[in-house]
Amino acid sequence: GLRSRSAFKLLQLQEKYGFIRSGMTVVDLGCAPGGWCQVALSDVGSNGKVIGLDLLAMEPLDGVRFIQGDFTEDEPLQALEEALESASVDLVLSDMAPNMSGMAATDQARSMYLAELALDFARNHLKTGGGFLVKLFQGEGFDAFVRDVRGSFDKVSVRKPEASRPRSREVYLLALGHRVE
Ligand code: SAM
Repeated sequence: GLRSRSAFKLLQLQEKYGFIRSGMTVVDLGCAPGGWCQVALSDVGSNGKVIGLDLLAMEPLDGVRFIQGDFTEDEPLQALEEALESASVDLVLSDMAPNMSGMAATDQARSMYLAELALDFARNHLKTGGGFLVKLFQGEGFDAFVRDVRGSFDKVSVRKPEASRPRSREVYLLALGHRVE
């Protein structure tokens, strides 16, 4: 079975947009407990590659290269770059979310920061035409972030999967057609 509720959100987006394809190299940021890795693995197939990173430990998944570490720090990022062996990436996924403190402004700032880091990574590692899917929370910084993404991708959509709780401000931004400057 699938390891997370989040996996159903990714499945719904994948059914609609079909952005995970056979043979792709996919990086999954904030991947624990591994639901998105499972979905990505089955769609990239044996010629593809899935590399996941999380703060938390993850129960091994056959075929997934897992790196444990904090994406806001240098070392895990370097480990991720080494695991890629300078291959460029087809798809960057980020479902990262900070531990919620309950202070809305702080939580929003932290989650926007994680999204910014994921976007930087995507810009630096995606091949031309590559894709980027990131979880965002609507609030301060959201509109500016979407505008920023539009500067580097041909097609940007913001979606709320049905599997997402209706009252949460969570949405997913899907950006396709990366333009390499
Ligand atoms: N997509 C996953 C799945 O389907 O199993 C669920 C991801 S969960 C909603 C968010 C994850 O982001 C958590 O496992 C958390 O540890 C991770 N995370 C939060 N901040 C992080 C950071 N700074 N570096 C790495 N991972 C982080």
